Amino acid sequence: MGSCNVNKRLEGKVAIVTGGASGIGASTVHLFWEQGAKVVIADIQDNLGQSLATKLGDNVLYVHCDVSDDEQVMNLVDTAVSKFGQLDIMYNNAGIMSGIFESILNTNKSDLERMLGVNLIGAFLGAKHAARVMVPNKKGCILFTASSCTKIGGIAPHSYAASKYGVVGLTKSLACELGKHGIRVNCISPFGVLTGSTGGAEKEAMFEMMMGAVGNLQGKILKAEDIAKAALYLASDEASYVSGMNLVVDGGYSVVNPSLM
Ligand code: NAD
Repeated sequence: MGSCNVNKRLEGKVAIVTGGASGIGASTVHLFWEQGAKVVIADIQDNLGQSLATKLGDNVLYVHCDVSDDEQVMNLVDTAVSKFGQLDIMYNNAGIMSGIFESILNTNKSDLERMLGVNLIGAFLGAKHAARVMVPNKKGCILFTASSCTKIGGIAPHSYAASKYGVVGLTKSLACELGKHGIRVNCISPFGVLTGSTGGAEKEAMFEMMMGAVGNLQGKILKAEDIAKAALYLASDEASYVSGMNLVVDGGYSVVNPSLM
């Protein structure tokens, strides 16, 4: 029987976390670092990203990177490899959200383009540049943050839902191509995690109502750490036979409420 190191589950691994300066990303950076990984934080919020890197020390680096820009993502991956010597985990987590459900009559082409640019093209570019490094090494783990709006109809703006369904599609198609190169590809679908994008007094009250009234099985609002723990599982060798999956982390909300429309 092989043993698993439960204290340092990412010892010897190098990870990039996009959107790592705040929310789910920052929590994941912290947890991956605690579990022994060397971590590159990629974000556009330079002050937040740099101060997290400084706080955690030598094994963490901040790189400014707009994930929707091909050259910046290429530079991100190359910087990670030149600083830490390899890339084992690419967590494409950066994303933008805007409010809750919005009618298509109030949705413009530019809303869709903006959302796809960060949430889907950004995810695609991260995966592409990571694969460039991982394929020759015949190993690696690519993760995305999708959303449980891929399981529940009518909770998110159309542009956001389209971008996150795209991420799920990308997860499955990449898993098919990259498996033979020893690379696993999975996504995580959270719902109702209080973070920078979703915080604020009004939204907090709304989340409280949604989670309480309509059937979150655990009756609580999720924290960024809850998603980071799912990312840790998928990134660790314990998930060595898990690929092409959309792991929903929403306290059971999407099972109870498959559609709000
Ligand atoms: P957050 O706003 O705290 O974090 C998002 C991070 O992405 C920020 O640090 C932001 O600066 C960064 N970012 C935005 N645009 C970027 C770009 N172009 N290039 C690089 N970085 C960029 O929000 P969060 O809730 O932690 O979101 C993380 C991910 O989780 C997103 O993909 C989001 O869609 C997804 N998600 C969140 C929830 C939730 O309830 N919070 C639910 C479902 C999915």
